Amino acid sequence: MAKIAINIATGSLQKEEIIVGIDLGTTNSLVAIIHPDTRQPIALKEHNSSSLVPSVIHFDEYGNVTVGEAAKSFLVTQPQNTIFSAKRLMGKSYNDIKDNASFFSYKVIDDSNQTMVKVQAGNKFYTPAELSSFILKELKQRAEHILKTPVNKAVITVPAYFNDAQRQATRDAGKLAGLDVLRIVNEPTAASLAYGLGLHKEEEKTIAVYDLGGGTFDISILKISNGIFEVLSTNGDTYLGGDDIDNSIVKYWLQQAGINEDELKVNKEFAQGIRLQAEAAKIYLSSNDIFETTFNGDALSITKKIFEGLIQPLVDKTIVCSSNALKDAGLTKTAIDVVVMVGGSTRVPLVKESISNFFGKAVNDTVNPDEVVALGAAIQADILAGNNKDVLLLDITPLSLGIETMGGLMDVMIARNSKIPNKASRQYTTQKDGQSGMKISVYQGERDMVNDNRKLAEFNLSNIPAMPAGMAKVEVSFLINADGILVVKAKELRSGIEQSIEVKAQQDLTDAELEKMLLDSITHAKEDIATRALVEARTEGEQLLETTEKFIQKNTTHLSKEEFMQTAAAMQALQLSLTMNDKDLIHTKVEELNNISRPYAERIMDAAISYAMRGKTI
Ligand code: AMP
Repeated sequence: MAKIAINIATGSLQKEEIIVGIDLGTTNSLVAIIHPDTRQPIALKEHNSSSLVPSVIHFDEYGNVTVGEAAKSFLVTQPQNTIFSAKRLMGKSYNDIKDNASFFSYKVIDDSNQTMVKVQAGNKFYTPAELSSFILKELKQRAEHILKTPVNKAVITVPAYFNDAQRQATRDAGKLAGLDVLRIVNEPTAASLAYGLGLHKEEEKTIAVYDLGGGTFDISILKISNGIFEVLSTNGDTYLGGDDIDNSIVKYWLQQAGINEDELKVNKEFAQGIRLQAEAAKIYLSSNDIFETTFNGDALSITKKIFEGLIQPLVDKTIVCSSNALKDAGLTKTAIDVVVMVGGSTRVPLVKESISNFFGKAVNDTVNPDEVVALGAAIQADILAGNNKDVLLLDITPLSLGIETMGGLMDVMIARNSKIPNKASRQYTTQKDGQSGMKISVYQGERDMVNDNRKLAEFNLSNIPAMPAGMAKVEVSFLINADGILVVKAKELRSGIEQSIEVKAQQDLTDAELEKMLLDSITHAKEDIATRALVEARTEGEQLLETTEKFIQKNTTHLSKEEFMQTAAAMQALQLSLTMNDKDLIHTKVEELNNISRPYAERIMDAAISYAMRGKTI
């Protein structure tokens, strides 16, 4: 079910906004959602077009920005103003990238080695986060256009090896694009989720995610247990991918035609044209034995056998990386339960076969390798939205958690929609002299009275040493761990005695029950507030009766008969008001009793003080 939110302006209920999953890729980016009807993840695309948006940004001389396929055509004609592979610059200083600076055909500012890189396009400077934000903005707009609804929240994926600076830059990019980035998720984790891995708590698996994209290769070894993904190791080559496959075909053709490779540098249009032909050949050879075409008047052809011979060294490189990743994880090939294929280049049959041979098992390749990461991000988004409650990765509390306090009131310790893991603590005290036990009742729900909420657990903190009322300090703490298990602890701080209990917070509530509990809290808000006020007034009245009673018992001799009579009458009136459902009446009676007792209470206190101070010098 969807979370319920209250529209402050209209006071009406509305389904929580959609949360999209975004694969912000080096070559291509895309958005996915969980289809509200089929509950299946789907990549968003306009009618008759691809879900993939090339991660390319073009700036024209007037500062207009174009992103995607339209920008891609400027790669050849205006390389200085057309930015690709901005992801490679995220969270990097010039020092980090200077060895590969020639890779970028646009201007990467190198005036400082330490600070983060900037890119110049025209007379403007952009940080990598700003550049990525243009891509995210485009994705957001596309999604809004397709879904006909505002899109403000997203889960964005990053490579598993991204460090904090790179992750932060990705978050910043999201913010700049007007997106609330609820979670940064590792790409291999997202890909695993798209294959349904990690969606069941009992599942324990070791997964190899092999990701060969357009320009990068990553291999990640993950372990999932208790619904938590752990990255055991990552390896790869940040400059190895489909582009290299295309280049190897281009080189082969140039050799065949006796054309010097320098021609590619001199004639950009020619270079671009022949690269596109090579890419077409590569794709065609996935399901055919020979590719033939004419380009610039020349006949070009390549057989599958030759193609495979050309790319074998590239594939071998990925296998060396995979082997190193296993070594770093301290595992052998046989320990891998599942191999997941990610990235467009894994469509090449030789790649799939080689990897399958290496790991000794069939690879998982049924999900579109270009979309699999975004689809997994959408699944993660859905989990965050609380729509997929079978899943453990749930990381917010769907309902408030609290304890019962005096008069049956709900004292919320961890509010609904709080992040998990989480902890909170609060101090309470005893109500009665010599009180030796304190009952801690744990409830879940949004109502003010615990009786309207769900009781999750109850325990007794016993053996509190005898102390006057209000002296004991009982600290109650709530701790929800990453598994959604709530541990409630109560500790009397003066004596150190403590007691705790473990509660499973999301105990078998159905979606309908959860929804009803939230709706109830809203429809009953007014009466709940009134009830709370009444209970608080009653508690105050009861406490005043108790302390007054004690006071007059102790000081009978110091009270005049009249004072005694008046007090008794006021106490009786207050007692009576407590049985009625009128908080204002209770407050009035409390006030009256206070007015009667105040003068003699002050008199008696003053006397006691001056008695205590007699004979003492200050
Ligand atoms: P990605 O970065 O995951 O979007 O992968 C893009 C790369 O996949 C590009 O190099 C594409 O040429 C390549 N690619 C897409 N489709 C195929 C295919 N059918 N066979 C081989 N490579 C492909």
